[in-house]
Amino acid sequence: MNHSRILILMSDTGGGHRASAQALQAAFAARYPGRFRVEIVDMWTDYTPWPINRMPRMYSPVVARALWLWKLLWFIFENKRAHSAVLRLVYLLCRNELRKVLQAHRPHLVISVHPLMQHIFFHLLEEARAPIPFVTVVTDLASFHHGWFHKRAERCFVASDVAAEAARHHGLHAGRVRMLGLPVRPPFVGTLPDKEAARARLGLADTAFTVLLLGGGEGMGPVAATAHAVARRLAETGTAAQLVVICGRNKRLRQSLQRSEWPIPAQVCGFVDNMQEWMAASDCVITKAGPGTIAEALISGLPILLSGFIPGQEEGNVSYVVENGAGAYCDTPGGIAAIVSDWAGGSELAQMADRARELGRPRAAYDIVDEIVEFMDGEIAESRDS
Ligand code: UDP
Repeated sequence: MNHSRILILMSDTGGGHRASAQALQAAFAARYPGRFRVEIVDMWTDYTPWPINRMPRMYSPVVARALWLWKLLWFIFENKRAHSAVLRLVYLLCRNELRKVLQAHRPHLVISVHPLMQHIFFHLLEEARAPIPFVTVVTDLASFHHGWFHKRAERCFVASDVAAEAARHHGLHAGRVRMLGLPVRPPFVGTLPDKEAARARLGLADTAFTVLLLGGGEGMGPVAATAHAVARRLAETGTAAQLVVICGRNKRLRQSLQRSEWPIPAQVCGFVDNMQEWMAASDCVITKAGPGTIAEALISGLPILLSGFIPGQEEGNVSYVVENGAGAYCDTPGGIAAIVSDWAGGSELAQMADRARELGRPRAAYDIVDEIVEFMDGEIAESRDS
């Protein structure tokens, strides 16, 4: 069978870009079975030479241990001229490798879910004289690097009014900017697991107040200190409670927490593939302000206690959650523990859960994919007529 080939460009800087890419890939398969071959590529890791191909791996250590360096890089890249000049230079240094991405995948359409793909790829398309349509799916909720926006993108899919405004501000024609939500993976679409059943499947007590704690795909931030503070506080107040800590890919964190003694029942996991189950089983989530986790928690109707943010791309997510009434922000383990224990005993949790559910966009990936296919069909019809 002749498939149309779609290439999704992402990079493993955090867990969110891959999760969004997978969400789109799954949505193509669900909505248009057999029609598309969708491949996901980390262009920086797979199609640039050493040492540039090592940059994605540096992201987590830099953000975790040298935040000053991340802030400096963000500041430099905020300057449009510096950003264009650096990416142009990277392109010139890497173009022999980069060309291979077109040869290897021969895409009919390219989708980017990463802010550092647009400008480099347009250099590549220009030089190769390849008129391949390019669309961007912005996977940040409320703070944006201008690298996300390229005025030649055929479509730019965003998840909030602020994002739509930013896209237009950076020169995208209003008709190309579409606000459909942030793509989340298929388990979050349709009927979500029932709380009681999810707790039973995960080995959790069925009536205890259940707190989920995580730090993005990499298990970043003061997860250990927060876990201990929350457990201590809930034990002191005599709340019937249990704690779930998801450490993502942070093995050291998992090992240290699995060796810990806990004053309330606690489950410590590594990277899990069934986030929808853990969210369904919980009463609230404590997390850094990652857009992927926030979008999934909103869909799950889970009040969100934000414990921190990565400067730059996650800053605006805090006001998005707090101002919309879906949660709160606090960056000290003691303060977080106090808020969680108030939530456990109070009535505001139900209101926040309702607000969260109202903001959630479970069908975002399907809606985006439908519009992309509509666009592709329009292009085919146009070229047939001309
Ligand atoms: N995630 C997961 N399993 C884990 C930890 C995280 O599937 O054990 C997913 C989480 O559900 C979310 C993504 O990884 O979809 C994290 O994205 P986010 O934007 O919140 O943070 P990032 O890791 O990109 O900084």
